Amino acid sequence: MTVHNFSAGPCILPKEVLQQASQAVQEFDGLDLSLIEISHRSKSFIGVMDRAIELVKELLEVPKGYSVLFLQGGASLEFTMVPHNLMKAKGGSAAYSVTGTWAKKALKEAQKLGAATAISDSSDRNFCYIPKDESIPETADYYHCTSNNTIFGTQIKEFPSSPVPVVCDMSSDIFSRKVDVEKFGLIYAGAQKNMGPAGATVVIVNDELLGHTGRDIPTMLDYRTHIEKESMFHTPPVFAVYVSMLTLQWLKDRGGIQWVSERNAKKAGMMYGEIDRNPLFEGTADREDRSTMNACFLLKDDSLKERFDEMWKAAGISGINGHRSVGGYRASMYNALPPESVQTLVDVMKELERTKG
Ligand SMILES: *Cc1c(COP(=O)(O)O)cnc(C)c1O
Repeated sequence: MTVHNFSAGPCILPKEVLQQASQAVQEFDGLDLSLIEISHRSKSFIGVMDRAIELVKELLEVPKGYSVLFLQGGASLEFTMVPHNLMKAKGGSAAYSVTGTWAKKALKEAQKLGAATAISDSSDRNFCYIPKDESIPETADYYHCTSNNTIFGTQIKEFPSSPVPVVCDMSSDIFSRKVDVEKFGLIYAGAQKNMGPAGATVVIVNDELLGHTGRDIPTMLDYRTHIEKESMFHTPPVFAVYVSMLTLQWLKDRGGIQWVSERNAKKAGMMYGEIDRNPLFEGTADREDRSTMNACFLLKDDSLKERFDEMWKAAGISGINGHRSVGGYRASMYNALPPESVQTLVDVMKELERTKG
């Protein structure tokens, strides 16, 4: 049976990519060896890393003067790497937009190193909206935001204009829509939401921002270490980088960001269209801030839950239980999710309405 994978992360990857990746675990690049048993300094693997970085640059049209890195530690390690590299050791400060659980965690790490503050916070309504009209202090070393709030299903549609460098956690919507990299000082994303398996983190950083903090940064946390060694300062997560490279190539072959952003808009349109039309359901995020990646919704009548859960499971749908902090349901519609999977879920919702008695 076809399984429709709506998992929030780790999550769906293209079938073709999984096939190629499993093949490479058996035998890679005509070497009669596995991808994961050869040196990361071999010509074959260096080719993979170079190609992965090149694809990030191509797909996002990364301007000159920016470095692209593949690191370990997930997006969570970036929560501390960012202030280490960008916040002045003496009298430093940073402004955070607190739009969800991940943003809160990012702020907490920055506060360990200096005067990081929340300039906005949408926890008053359980993070169901994106605060507007933020005033970003000119004295901050940087401003930090989260482009897509995976747990609460909100997404920044228009990034604020900022007098200081913008740092953005794009873990759950990178490569899903066009972004103007030039407007950001630093972008980071864990791979496992829209790019590949867990274990790799992509960082895109404006080189000019580095080296001005007067801080003694631990070697592994210093972006300059990894820029200088082209993400090969130590053993990179070879499998995660390889699969990310395949996914990015898959995306490029189909028409890149233009193609996928139209497809994502179509999927989100189908999903929210049904949530709004069907009297049994309601969305949890404010309409104008709804995420194209994660649609959060509730059943208005809890007594239908058991029946609905049985129905979607029988239709081969997987991974739509909401996060415990929101409840209800969350349909994650990352790049690799085909529109047919969304149609299947919509059909089940319609069927529930028709048969509820
Ligand atoms: C999943 C997620 C994270 C955490 O990523 P890890 O790689 O597990 O550290 C951070 N930010 C956002 C927006 C996420 O969706």
